[in-house]
Amino acid sequence: MKLAGKVVIITGGAGGIGKEASVIFANEGAHVVVVDRDPQQVDKVANEVNGLGLAVDVSNREQVDWMVSEVINRYGKIDVLINNAGITMDATLVKMTQEQWDRVISINQTGVFHCTQAVVPHMIREGAGRIINTSSIVGRMGNFGQTNYAASKAAVIAMTQTWAKELGRKGILVNAVAPGFIVTPMTDKMPESVLQGMKEKIALRRLGQPRDVANVYVFLASDEASYINGAVIPVDGGLSI
Ligand code: NAD
Repeated sequence: MKLAGKVVIITGGAGGIGKEASVIFANEGAHVVVVDRDPQQVDKVANEVNGLGLAVDVSNREQVDWMVSEVINRYGKIDVLINNAGITMDATLVKMTQEQWDRVISINQTGVFHCTQAVVPHMIREGAGRIINTSSIVGRMGNFGQTNYAASKAAVIAMTQTWAKELGRKGILVNAVAPGFIVTPMTDKMPESVLQGMKEKIALRRLGQPRDVANVYVFLASDEASYINGAVIPVDGGLSI
């Protein structure tokens, strides 16, 4: 058990990658806090991993502050924050609505800011902590129809590097993963022809699975990663090379 007794908050913890991460972290001995929007889904996953479930919208600062106070009341500390919640609302530039822009930025970018800003004072108090953010290869390469998503995921990289510089001296390590194409509810509605075309662009010739990303979250949270700070690790089977 690499993470025995660690308190780990996973936002989007009831979704594809987040749920897999919740299970793997629990198997590594962590106390998992499953944070997501839908109370029923949250309770279901939290029960499965014998953790704490909190229904929270990460774009809402009051709810995020409540989340942090609940975790502190229950466990007294926060060791790891995994900013994994995210959405897509695709449209080409000319057709993108203000609502599509605002919604994606408020969750994927501002949500990461809210959660990290609310959690970090508790890590500073302990003199230790890990922040693990979820960017995307789209944050580096752009993608057709994803102005809002690409901008939000590029911002996640910028925040990761900035916080790595600010917080490293306080014992808090900040890193990000940049997944490629992972089969989750976010992507599994795509037609077979698109999935096939995608596979041909991936050097490993297979789509990613949620555990491919969740395992890297675990590594970045573990003692083995204690000299990694400010890194953005691609988890894409070679799609971005
Ligand atoms: P998913 O849709 O299966 O899971 C995302 C979860 O986030 C959902 O459970 C959703 O309810 C939750 N969520 C959304 N808005 C929220 C909010 N405001 N507050 C709290 N929770 C909220 O998607 P996934 O593929 O598991 O994505 C996880 C992360 O990985 C996201 O940040 C996504 O952008 C990123 N990512 C995914 C892929 C991919 O191919 N699937 C690729 C690159 C990056």
